[in-house]
Amino acid sequence: MKEMICIVCPKGCRLKVDENNNYNVTGNACPRGAEYGKNETRNPVRVLTTTVKIGGAKYRRCPVRTEHAVPKGSLMEIMQQLNSVCLISPVAIGDIALENAADTGINVIVTKDM
Ligand code: SF4
Repeated sequence: MKEMICIVCPKGCRLKVDENNNYNVTGNACPRGAEYGKNETRNPVRVLTTTVKIGGAKYRRCPVRTEHAVPKGSLMEIMQQLNSVCLISPVAIGDIALENAADTGINVIVTKDM
């Protein structure tokens, strides 16, 4: 039995996920919590937000994020890849900063015009 707090909304229900019973979720006040509990146990994912180097802009770092949630296990590899990225100004929101991050099929995109 795995216990966790649902982070889908501010209510923060205490979930229990039974891995031995088809990932049955209890403690959720709505169906979104059941889905969260199952996904968090089977394949936890996160949207990664961070910054990368940029040249020729007012600031030296540019905010970026993954286009979609990526498997939690790939976060460190994506961060390592982003360490060697250096954008050149101008960049616009939605520009790709890193393609196919850590072979997840998901791009890292710029979130600020700079
Ligand atoms: S289970 Fe539903 S009500 Fe409870 S925290 Fe999650 S989303 Fe909110």
